[in-house]
Amino acid sequence: MSIIRNAAAIAKGMSITLGEAFKPTEVENYPDGKGPMRGAQFQERFRGKHQLQRDENGLEKCVACFLCAAACPSNCIYIEAADNTTDHRISSAERYAKVYNIDYNRCIFCGYCVEACPTDAITHGHGFELASLNATTMVMRKEDLLVQIPVGLPKSNQEKAEVLA
Ligand code: SF4
Ligand code: SF4
Repeated sequence: MSIIRNAAAIAKGMSITLGEAFKPTEVENYPDGKGPMRGAQFQERFRGKHQLQRDENGLEKCVACFLCAAACPSNCIYIEAADNTTDHRISSAERYAKVYNIDYNRCIFCGYCVEACPTDAITHGHGFELASLNATTMVMRKEDLLVQIPVGLPKSNQEKAEVLA
């Protein structure tokens, strides 16, 4: 009796295996083709690699207030502030982040930094390819996080932002 039960169980298992084997593949051709992340809602809320945003004039939104670093439970944000001057304006406020590093060896993607930011300067992007065998490459610098200058910016502003970037 147990032989029949075991044979039936094996047949049931194999039927699932064979059924799946002939279905079209659902795995994207990773890493050559990344494919979309499933579900628009999931994609919007996904917490990936951070982005430092610019305002509509191409200036950096970060004003070096350190609130994100203070809110970070992993202590993985490092900022050095500098003053804007008339000839060298990076953000629209008094100060800007001369150095802005996030150590992804320690970041837990909790989003507290995003919530703490008063200017919406730091946000989560959708980048997820952060794994590395070299821990030193896991420290992302401002240059790695800063978004491009907005397309369609008036030419005078764009030139100014490019010079300052
Ligand atoms: S997501 Fe969380 S752990 Fe990562 S930098 Fe922001 S506050 Fe820190
Ligand atoms: S990212 Fe936001 S919270 Fe962090 S220093 Fe810049 S302005 Fe302040």
